[in-house]
Amino acid sequence: MYRLALTTASLLLIDGQYRTFTVEKATARRISGQEDKGSERHEWPIIPAAALKGAMRIDFERLMRALERPVCHGPDPGRMCTIEPCIVCRLFGGPGDRPGRLRFADALPPTRQYRELYIQRMGVGLSRSLRRAESGLLFAQEAMPSGLRLETQIQTLEPLAPQDQHDFEAVLNWWRQEGLSIGGGRSRGMGRVTLEWEEDTMDASAEPFPAEAPVLPSQPRSRLFHLFFTPTTESEEPIRVSAVKLRSYFLGSLGFIPGSTVRGAVGWGLKRVEMADSDISDLLLRRAARFSHLYPKKPLDMPPASAVQCKKYDNHAHYDHLLWQYVLGKAVQRDISPRKLLKLHEQTTHCLVPGCKGDLKVVSRLRDQQRRLQIKLALDRTLGRQEAGMFYIYEILPGHQSYEGLVWADEGLQQVIGEQGRQVFIGGARSKGFGRGQLRLEEYGDDMGEARAIQVRQEQLRDALTERLGIALDEGAVQALLADRFFFTLTLLTELALPPAIVLADWLRELYGWTLETAYLHWTRLGGYSQAGNRSKPLVQALEQGGALLLSAPADKATTVCDQLAQIECEGLGLLRDQGYGWVYACHPYHYEAAIPVERVLADG
Ligand SMILES: [Zn+2]
Ligand SMILES: [Zn+2]
Repeated sequence: MYRLALTTASLLLIDGQYRTFTVEKATARRISGQEDKGSERHEWPIIPAAALKGAMRIDFERLMRALERPVCHGPDPGRMCTIEPCIVCRLFGGPGDRPGRLRFADALPPTRQYRELYIQRMGVGLSRSLRRAESGLLFAQEAMPSGLRLETQIQTLEPLAPQDQHDFEAVLNWWRQEGLSIGGGRSRGMGRVTLEWEEDTMDASAEPFPAEAPVLPSQPRSRLFHLFFTPTTESEEPIRVSAVKLRSYFLGSLGFIPGSTVRGAVGWGLKRVEMADSDISDLLLRRAARFSHLYPKKPLDMPPASAVQCKKYDNHAHYDHLLWQYVLGKAVQRDISPRKLLKLHEQTTHCLVPGCKGDLKVVSRLRDQQRRLQIKLALDRTLGRQEAGMFYIYEILPGHQSYEGLVWADEGLQQVIGEQGRQVFIGGARSKGFGRGQLRLEEYGDDMGEARAIQVRQEQLRDALTERLGIALDEGAVQALLADRFFFTLTLLTELALPPAIVLADWLRELYGWTLETAYLHWTRLGGYSQAGNRSKPLVQALEQGGALLLSAPADKATTVCDQLAQIECEGLGLLRDQGYGWVYACHPYHYEAAIPVERVLADG
């Protein structure tokens, strides 16, 4: 790892990544994470990793060419290395997402001082074609002052070949003497930085995983773990996880980290320390390690699709509607009086906060979660300036929160990831300051995967259902419905991928002998991008995360069903379980604890 200190020697203007409407051209900045929690907002000037990497690549290429080293002609992919990469591609990456060995991070003020330190300049828009000032195009421009010290590091993702290391360090020395130009306005003398560097031999990144392949237990015994991903604390690196890779100028991000991305990061980390491919696939594939998606909160704490909330006020309580949906359906079938039905419907579809009467709506689960937009200008590499009108927008997940999920794996994985945490890189743009953080495994302490716990939850669910049915139907009808059936729910903690051309109710009946009573489900399609295969994954039909199903089975099969459910909680349901799909939880307490209360429905009006 190389530690770098950059000092601005002139005004510095990094176009892009702006989020202000008062200044037309704003310099890149990092905004403190606590902003969202209502405390004071802080901003620090930064040089984004991508800008630093771009400037260094251009100058490095120029110097290598001057030394008559064979180098290809970026950025045109058609003239870049295809098979054997040149030194530039080896260090900075080749076309088609081939990673380079160097990894850049944002340059930040050392102790986060220099808050809000920008200079505003007024500029005049120049018409490029006419080479004169365009009328009315006066703009405010923000720049970083000179004399500002920023620090960063360049990590080596794989050890450099001795000759490459020699060349790279020679260029670092050249920059120490001659300086480097970064960002916009270079033709106007802006963007000069001086550079100090040193090699840090205490390189935490060199051994993110044990250098030797762990001794995997010969008798694999799988169990559940909690898995956490925490972005690196010093720079709060944001994360980019795109759903489907499209050629567009908007790059959306998922609101969570997919299980397959987590598994990929673990596998890639093991490859970096030269663990044999056969050992990696033994650990992650043959032993069927299952990673759930990682969410900003525990998967079990997220409201299911049957959760409803007040349409008027966000702070009014959430309720679960699953049981009432079933009861209302039965009431219609049993032909109860229209007046009673109307009342039941009224009372279960309006906010329960006294005096509110707002309609209820479905709780948005991942939608309210934070994603931020960043705008980035595309740079014309040969001209070293922005391409006119070319910019793209991408979404990021903020880097100041942890993400958590579940893993079903044997102790071999625990040895590899460990409880202290291993450094991994998650998602896209990893070589440009995104996605660095710690992965940590903890013993699983909750009650997933236990038949006895499911039985206890089922009894509470049954009581809640009996109580609600009793309000709509007479006692005989309730008895007839419940007497010989065992009712239970399944809540989808991640998406459930289904076999093609199948009816869900038929599939569950054929597979397990269960009857689908009612459900809150939404269809979705799974896609994604395989970093390993460098291609989009095929689309698969699936049910959305959060979906809730009320099911029943013959009462005399209750013990068998509890055992089945415990196994499914561990091993998953449906297709693509190895990619993080098909995590379910049986008889989630939310469905009975948060169910719209009976007293409310009985109350007048
Ligand atoms: Zn090349
Ligand atoms: Zn309300």
